[in-house]
Amino acid sequence: MTLSSENLYDRARGSLAGGVSHQSRYVAPFPKYVERAQGSRKWEVDGKEFIDYAMGSASLLLGHAHPDVVKALTEQASRGTFFADSHPLEVDWAELIQGLIPCAERVRFVGSGTEATMLAIRIARAYSGKNKILRFEGHYHGWHEFVDLGMAAPYDQPSSLGILPGTIEATVVAPPDAARVAEVLDADNEIGTIICEVSGANYGSVPLPYGFLSALRELADQHNAVLIFDEVITGFRWSPGGLQARDKIIPDLTSMAKIVTGGMPGGAVGGKEEIMRLLDPTHEYKGRKPGVVHKGTFNGSPLVSASGVAALTQVKTGEPNRLADAAAKRLRDGIRQIIEQHQVAGAVYGEASTFHIYFGDGVVDGSVAELGAEKIRGVSPEIILALRNGLRERGIDLMSHMSGVTSMAHTDEDVDQTLEAFEDTLRGMISDRLVGRA
Ligand code: PMP
Repeated sequence: MTLSSENLYDRARGSLAGGVSHQSRYVAPFPKYVERAQGSRKWEVDGKEFIDYAMGSASLLLGHAHPDVVKALTEQASRGTFFADSHPLEVDWAELIQGLIPCAERVRFVGSGTEATMLAIRIARAYSGKNKILRFEGHYHGWHEFVDLGMAAPYDQPSSLGILPGTIEATVVAPPDAARVAEVLDADNEIGTIICEVSGANYGSVPLPYGFLSALRELADQHNAVLIFDEVITGFRWSPGGLQARDKIIPDLTSMAKIVTGGMPGGAVGGKEEIMRLLDPTHEYKGRKPGVVHKGTFNGSPLVSASGVAALTQVKTGEPNRLADAAAKRLRDGIRQIIEQHQVAGAVYGEASTFHIYFGDGVVDGSVAELGAEKIRGVSPEIILALRNGLRERGIDLMSHMSGVTSMAHTDEDVDQTLEAFEDTLRGMISDRLVGRA
């Protein structure tokens, strides 16, 4: 039997639950099985080559298998992969984060982005002494209990079975609208934590209204709420110091993952010393030492620390961001031109090294600012699948929906090849009457 994604998926269904390790890796008709990757490219098991705009779920700002990261990993692996002791590299890694992320006066390492928001919320609840959290419609903070309600519409229903009613009662979901947030905070003084995906939902596919984050900072201060910026995507991508360094809006706590580890499993919480002190095993807080319990066998493991240090040493130079941002801008400009040339109703947008495509009406002067979440999220699954699969056939892989990210490894040639594939796919979508005329 030849090695193909289709065959592997058939086999996987007999051992892996649902055939996959992450439900979003399933894309109809079957997931892609990738064998190797280098720079901006990856290869499926049958040898098919892709220009990759998923880039390890946005964790690989430096590109696949960057030589510094590979060297750091190999060197550390030969000295031992894991000690379950403190070790020098985790200190180097924490200092690099401290130097880049403004609110990170102290850092604690965790096992994933999900664990980062889980820990940040636990610390925020402990510090504020209040149970309820406020979060925003459609924002994603991982798959744990605390942040399930509000992840997807309908926002008053949990997205999964098995969620404790108590967690639902402790979660308030609001639209990202400063006036609504003020009303909600005024009406409910049990809210002690606010968490926000600072790109807007799904790495910016639904952008936040202008000025929203600075309003949120002020409102959190007025109501004594701990403000958590979820920078799992934006951290080290919107700028080397994330959104907070770029826009100079400093939260109390920040969740990080993906780029922070150089694309290895792991994550971190950074925050103000006064709040992070609750994790200090030598510090007593409200009769407990430490105030907040946090464990995790593989937190800050040597292997992940080695990769994180290698990646952030590059990020610190500013060069990865400059190159990745330039590639994404070239791609957005090209897609915009093609959409206009074919007079299709739609838009392309995105910050830093991201891009999002939208097909439908309501675009004003190329901007999606007036569209709102419902319209952006309301693009039909047929359109999304036609674009994704059209591109996939032509050797282009997106990250999710109609969105993707670039890395410093993406070249002009990659972008030009992608634009050709996009135009070809769009022609097919026009003749199938899937997209409308502007
Ligand atoms: N927060 C945000 C903003 C994310 O995008 C993600 C993952 N895409 C997470 C949290 C969860 O991270 P992980 O998948 O590492 O658990």
